[in-house]
Amino acid sequence: MEKAERKTKRLMRRVSAGVCPCCNRTFSDLARHMKTKHENVVSLKKAEA
Ligand SMILES: [Zn+2]
Repeated sequence: MEKAERKTKRLMRRVSAGVCPCCNRTFSDLARHMKTKHENVVSLKKAEA
């Protein structure tokens, strides 16, 4: 497994735990936060699916 891939997987784990990868803060409704604050970040939406 490549380093970048591992980093992404770890990031996704944090995201699923409610931690915003952009703000490094925890949100009870991260999906809504991403939509309102990081609407331009589409890569995360793709990885979620
Ligand atoms: Zn954020």
